[in-house]
Amino acid sequence: MQFPDGRVVYISYGRREGGGWVATHEDITERKASADRIERLAHYDSLTGLANRNLFKERIDAALARSRRLEPAFAVLLLDLDKFKSVNDALGHQCGDALLKQVADRIKSQIRDADTAARIGGDEFAVIVAPSRVAMCDAAASLAARLVQAIAEPYHIDGHPVVIGCSIGLALVPEHGTRVDEVLRNADLALYRSKNAGRSCFHIYSAELKAEADQRNVLEIELREAIWREEIEVFYQPVIELGTGRVKSVEALARWHHSIRGYIPPAEFIAVAEAGGLIVELGNQVLARACRDATSMPADVKVAVNLSALQFAGTNLVDTVTFALAQSGLPQPRLELEITESVFLADSEENLKTLQRLKALGVSIALDDFGVGYSSLSYLTAFPFDKVKIDKSFIDRIDRSETVAVLKSIVQLAKTLKLSIVAEGVESSEQVRRLQSLGIPLGQGFHFSKPVPLAGLSWQAPTARRKRRAA
Ligand code: C2E
Ligand code: CA
Ligand code: CA
Repeated sequence: MQFPDGRVVYISYGRREGGGWVATHEDITERKASADRIERLAHYDSLTGLANRNLFKERIDAALARSRRLEPAFAVLLLDLDKFKSVNDALGHQCGDALLKQVADRIKSQIRDADTAARIGGDEFAVIVAPSRVAMCDAAASLAARLVQAIAEPYHIDGHPVVIGCSIGLALVPEHGTRVDEVLRNADLALYRSKNAGRSCFHIYSAELKAEADQRNVLEIELREAIWREEIEVFYQPVIELGTGRVKSVEALARWHHSIRGYIPPAEFIAVAEAGGLIVELGNQVLARACRDATSMPADVKVAVNLSALQFAGTNLVDTVTFALAQSGLPQPRLELEITESVFLADSEENLKTLQRLKALGVSIALDDFGVGYSSLSYLTAFPFDKVKIDKSFIDRIDRSETVAVLKSIVQLAKTLKLSIVAEGVESSEQVRRLQSLGIPLGQGFHFSKPVPLAGLSWQAPTARRKRRAA
């Protein structure tokens, strides 16, 4: 019996052997409160108050059971925040938590009472869209669209303006599955598509997505074999000193010649290697090969090797690099390692230590794809880089005054930090001229050379060649 003041009393009546009754009144307020607390802990996320992963799965199970009997359709949305990790890293965990709470509130404000919102992982949320009067597909899609928009509105966290986005995958029951694992897997495939399509959008599961996933699996198996047979090739693209036309270094770029599909671009297979746990082995092979090849290049030319953030996860990256250098006999200062800011996003503390140990070996470290991320500037000061490579997107827009302004400040910063600067993706002599007038000393791109096999590299300055021809 619950009293208005909140007290809960348990009342039981028992017959006594010798005749008559006994009534027991027991105050169980405390016991009930702690049972409720345990129930909440088991089923709800303590930060946001939303359902947790357990309750989310139970609710899908229950909805599936109802739908088998009555056949009303429902839908499951999986929702992943974009760039949450960088906010968390930049502003700290407390702000990260505050942001998650506000996201949860925005999700709650968009759904109906009958729907269930859940937090199923660090920055992963989910919604079960209960049967509705309109067609389920329309109801779920319009909710997904509203969520993408609502979550993208700016936040104010502890006085800081913060902007994040979210990607959503959507699966409909019963069309896209009638078992929990099947529904979740299909919603997850749709989510994967949204993340790949540039994020801040939603996708609905389709059989085509499943076919693509199967194809990725085939590609992964083939890539595993190619790596095992050491069939991954390495091409080199020169980095040119703009003033003299001389080759200062070459960048090693992995190439996979597939027996049926021909050359598969690294943009496609590096991601497969990362997802399939093959990147460490692949990276080791490229590194070993690049060091070996570099010993046959002029002694003043460096070789640059790209490292995936996942290669930092294991503990032995430093050993691997040490071994590749020793095995090839390449002097440390001739090796350069290119990393992107993703190295700072994943387990930054450990990765920073690894980076410091690499630098201590005497190799140089370059920050790649500079400018495409959100907080590149802060990373430039977080570690003593030797070089920064300005992303092609800036060079493409070098004729705009805004771009020139940004490039000028990068040049200024690089001077202060004593970094060398490379412009990536240089495709025209007009771009070369503008780069030189900005004081950017190095360039790389199709204008000078595409990536070529070792034997195709030419060490002569093209300007010198042209001058000779003219003379
Ligand atoms: P990245 O490190 O930014 O490499 C530069 C990419 O831009 C190369 O593409 C190169 O061919 C291309 N490129 C160079 N100049 C021009 C230009 O003037 N115009 C255009 N349109 N493109 C230009 P690629 O070889 O397809 O490599 C793509 C990405 O794959 C690389 O981007 C790098 O992030 C990754 N990658 C390649 N090899 C490896 C590797 O061995 N390990 C790891 N972890 N990643 C690699
Ligand atoms: Ca690179
Ligand atoms: Ca790059």
